[in-house]
Amino acid sequence: MLRNTGVQLLPADIAEQIIAGNRVVLAQAITLAESQRPQDVTLAHQLITTLLPNTGKSVRIGITGVPGVGKSTFIEAFGTWLTSQQKKIAVLAVDPSSSKTKGSILGDKTRMEKLARNPNAFIRPTPTGNTLGGVANRTRETILLCEAAGFDVILVETVGVGQSETTVRNMVDFFLLLLLAGAGDELQGIKKGIMEMADAVVITKADGENKKAAALACANYQQALHLFNAADSGWQPKVLTSSATENTGIAETWQLVQDYMEHVQTTGYLEKYRQAQNRNWFYESIQTQLLQKIALSEKVNANLARFESEIMNNTLLPSEAARQLLTEVFRGSI
Ligand code: GDP
Repeated sequence: MLRNTGVQLLPADIAEQIIAGNRVVLAQAITLAESQRPQDVTLAHQLITTLLPNTGKSVRIGITGVPGVGKSTFIEAFGTWLTSQQKKIAVLAVDPSSSKTKGSILGDKTRMEKLARNPNAFIRPTPTGNTLGGVANRTRETILLCEAAGFDVILVETVGVGQSETTVRNMVDFFLLLLLAGAGDELQGIKKGIMEMADAVVITKADGENKKAAALACANYQQALHLFNAADSGWQPKVLTSSATENTGIAETWQLVQDYMEHVQTTGYLEKYRQAQNRNWFYESIQTQLLQKIALSEKVNANLARFESEIMNNTLLPSEAARQLLTEVFRGSI
């Protein structure tokens, strides 16, 4: 590490720098954790293991919503307000679609400009490219690195597409869904599953002509949420309205997060929930690392073309080809 510095530091030295709040070293450590080179992975894991006693003290908040709902504007207002309350905040992103769409959620630097210049905020753009499902693992490791660096609140932003909400839900304490007040059926277009994951819903852009519609949507969603079964946490999800441009609903959102944290700390749910998330991370890692090993295996690559052609000629059953391939990969190694 930290390759581009040309200096070979030991994990313990790097850890010390991170704990001391050195942003440059933190950013480099995150890059290391994002790397797929086996030697980087080993070093990153050593580093984070060293830092483990310094992790776990932040409030981890997931924020989701469709593009255009106002996520970055809300995070800018919310984050700025939190820093005014003497909180240090980190903003991370999980964006599996970023390599394909222009919807890269933190890719362009023009977003959250004010927050980016705030000395008590740290914004980490989303990693791009395909990593065999590794994005989530890297974000989990980044959360731990940021916690060790002393950030009090970690915001993990995700676009409302595909599996990303579930992924983020599984790495945060509190999950916030941003919604627009819409015409017609308020629940149209919102997957019920996402609503069920939310600890709070914020109706955005509650200003100007939109204020009335936002208040109405707020009441409707509050009613809709009552219809769901109680969450495992025992927390009753709440709905708020907010205008990021007028700075309304921002302090209230934080109050809600604090109420929730107090609730889950008192009941012991938070500790159990984080343990369950770690267990889940372990099993997910087995799968991703297994797939990476297989993809990198010379035995696999040497045989793929032959298997493919036999499958396409209908002389080999696909499931049998997979069995033979994996038997070959793991011969004598498990
Ligand atoms: P994202 O794609 O979810 O990150 O959404 P953005 O934060 O980029 O916001 C999308 C558009 O909505 C932008 O044109 C913003 O200026 C606008 N917007 C965001 N928040 C508010 C708000 O509180 N009030 C109003 N009136 N417009 C907003």
